[in-house]
Amino acid sequence: MTSGKVLIIGGGPSGLESARCVAELGGEAILIEKRERLGGTPDRENYAKLTHHWRDASEAMAEMAAAVTGNPNVEVKYQAEVKSVSGSAGDFTVEIEAGGVAESLNVGAVIIATGFQHFDPGRATQYYNYYSFPDVITLTDLEKMLREHNVVRPSNGEAPKKIAFVQCVGSRDRQIGNEYCSKVCCGIASKQAIELRQQIPDSKVFIFYIDMRMYGYWENEIYWPAQEKYHVNYVKGAWSQARARVPLRNCWAFNKINMASSKQAALVDWILLQPLRRASSLRVQRPALLTSMTPFQRQVSPPRVHLHPFVK
Ligand SMILES: Cc1cc2nc3c(=O)[nH]c(=O)nc-3n(C[C@H](O)[C@H](O)[C@H](O)COP(=O)(O)OP(=O)(O)OC[C@H]3O[C@@H](n4cnc5c(N)ncnc54)[C@H](O)[C@@H]3O)c2cc1C
Ligand code: SF4
Repeated sequence: MTSGKVLIIGGGPSGLESARCVAELGGEAILIEKRERLGGTPDRENYAKLTHHWRDASEAMAEMAAAVTGNPNVEVKYQAEVKSVSGSAGDFTVEIEAGGVAESLNVGAVIIATGFQHFDPGRATQYYNYYSFPDVITLTDLEKMLREHNVVRPSNGEAPKKIAFVQCVGSRDRQIGNEYCSKVCCGIASKQAIELRQQIPDSKVFIFYIDMRMYGYWENEIYWPAQEKYHVNYVKGAWSQARARVPLRNCWAFNKINMASSKQAALVDWILLQPLRRASSLRVQRPALLTSMTPFQRQVSPPRVHLHPFVK
């Protein structure tokens, strides 16, 4: 029996917007979300402000959720996950479990909007001492601080003065099976750099990148103002590791400019890792590679390291 209903899996921005559009077109949508709340990763990770309009993230997500929960053409099921799917386009039977109760749904189409997970920079690569150095943090850690207007170094509770973003952590890295580009973190780092400069005006912010991948809005409204208005410094180079000086006042990081020339070091207070990964691209990780030193790590040894001219 063909069905006009559309099943949407995932209650983040993509799923919410899909459900709203299906309803607006006069269709019926069933939205299932595995958490007990809608709002996806921005809600789960407590993002501060969302572009394009620098709106409070919880406010923006609540608005998107309200457009769906208040819509008579959308049925929302919480703590719900798909158990099995059979059939074909126009006539799918989907077995789900919602709140511990099994249910069978007949739908004509399925939209998968299960989003992404954050990459764990400590466990998978071991390059940056995320679990050892309190002043090495991730972009989600920073979002929480930005939200609370309390951007401080976890090691001493003081505002950081020299901050380095390290791009592409966990992405574009064949050695861990994640060869793809995550596509959003260049823009997000630039957005966060602006917010840091706003909240700590006397800070210096550096973004170390392999190449900046942005376009349209992100390039015109974020990337260029970050440099021209907020004086964020973009430095081309891949970081290989982070080291701490004793006492843990600064972090050393070895920086390979242009991926080819000499090893250089940057002395900074604070290191921000940009790890993202897409759930749809989840791969089986190879433990042997995760625990062994990579060729790039082996090349980097302490002798003959020069301070980077911009980041002394
Ligand atoms: C720090 C940071 C800041 C960002 N800031 C911005 C910004 O300012 N502006 C912007 O446009 N973008 C921003 N982004 C990107 C934005 O967060 C993502 O593009 C967006 O969250 C993607 O939405 P989504 O619905 O596809 O996925 P998600 O937000 O990940 O939502 C997926 C949902 O699916 C649910 N789910 C997963 N698996 C299942 C399952 N099996 N069954 C049922 N439900 C499931 C999850 O619980 C979740 O609720 C930022 C990203 C980061 C990391
Ligand atoms: S930091 Fe930029 S280039 Fe690197 S994976 Fe993210 S979006 Fe792609």
